[in-house]
Amino acid sequence: MYYGGIEAGGTKFVCAVSDQSFKIIERVSIPTSTPDETLKQVFAFFDQYQLKAIGIGSFGPIDVNVDSDTYGYVTSTPKKGWNNYNFVGAIKGRYDVPVAWTTDVNAAAYGEYRKGEAQLSNSCIYLTIGTGIGGGAILNGEIIDGFGHPEMGHISVPNHPNDPFEGVCPYHGNCLEGLAAGPAIEKRLQKKAQDLDKTDDFWEIEAYYIAQALVNYTMILRPEVLILGGGVMKQEQLFPLIRKAFKEIMNDYVVTPDLETYIVSPGLVDDAGITGSLLLAAEKAI
Ligand code: ADP
Ligand code: ZN
Repeated sequence: MYYGGIEAGGTKFVCAVSDQSFKIIERVSIPTSTPDETLKQVFAFFDQYQLKAIGIGSFGPIDVNVDSDTYGYVTSTPKKGWNNYNFVGAIKGRYDVPVAWTTDVNAAAYGEYRKGEAQLSNSCIYLTIGTGIGGGAILNGEIIDGFGHPEMGHISVPNHPNDPFEGVCPYHGNCLEGLAAGPAIEKRLQKKAQDLDKTDDFWEIEAYYIAQALVNYTMILRPEVLILGGGVMKQEQLFPLIRKAFKEIMNDYVVTPDLETYIVSPGLVDDAGITGSLLLAAEKAI
């Protein structure tokens, strides 16, 4: 018996099958096109295995409210074909097994909580800074969802004194995502984030926004670990800059773990999301 995991991203789907000890037996990466085309390839992969349960960590926004008529749907995405798409329904229509359903970042937070940087803790936040910004939280071992899932990227943060950029979020302009996700960097500097010099002054501005967000999350949830992933965080020089700005903004108001162990990159590197999806599948199977 195997578990199936789907890390459904806006650019690509990673599908994996693991044994009961969560060792990945096989994985594939499938480009995200229309639901029909993408799922055809997903089915071709999983059809080879006898699955006990499937876990999905999906790009959003998605409906995770079990009392909702549209539970299991991808909701208001601009991605062609995926708006109001019954993702869980499509998977369940093919495989008669329990399906765990959550956001990509909740799954990543769960993966890090069980097998990564937060495995010795009861709580953590996983934040991705990539094409967008999103976060998932684990508290006392549980994923935190309420009426919907958190939208940690769309919080308000004050502009840096030297950054007049108006932001790119279509809903809020200069929210965190509008100021600090990859496309915001590209629009502001007319250069992709990965092409900027590691010593560019801009990184201090980027760190200031991320640190403000981390201070806010700390004040609200007091988690034990803050894990930062996503393409932009491949810029490792950001970590010391973020810790420095965090310390200044926090101004010793609340106690946190040592910042070297509090603000960290994912222990599972790029596998937090798929690992979390497999773990959530197993929980659903019990
Ligand atoms: P996605 O969010 O689509 O899943 P990523 O996390 O890779 O994918 O995010 C893509 C964004 O991250 C792009 O805006 C890109 O410019 C930026 N990015 C990717 N790699 C790097 C890098 N090494 N350094 C800085 N920015 C990067
Ligand atoms: Zn926004």
